Amino acid sequence: MKILVVDDSSTMRRIIKNTLQRLGHQDILEAEHGVEAWSLLTQHADVNVLITDWNMPEMNGLELVKKVRAEAKYVDMPIIMVTTEGGKAEVITALKAGVNNYIVKPFTPQVLKEKLEDVLG
Ligand SMILES: [Mg+2]
Repeated sequence: MKILVVDDSSTMRRIIKNTLQRLGHQDILEAEHGVEAWSLLTQHADVNVLITDWNMPEMNGLELVKKVRAEAKYVDMPIIMVTTEGGKAEVITALKAGVNNYIVKPFTPQVLKEKLEDVLG
């Protein structure tokens, strides 16, 4: 399973990547903002899951989610948003845009594991 991790913080990408690897996921792509993520998605047709930050330069996570969901082929792609934006209004906005699950930073590896299992059914 190929997972695309998008965050402008290289430290956060490393934390998420390390956690995913410990859960047995070795096939991981990284992008530092939505523009790079979109480019990787168009190059790799086999991305199964998108894990994205919200606040990023160039194209933020919410814009990325809307762009992804606007494409018919990505309608069912599981998307998890990992962000410091933990307010109720933000969560609702993200869910309306098409996010399947939501993680507020800081988070534990167990939370990422549970949310990933949740979106994978
Ligand atoms: Mg950020």
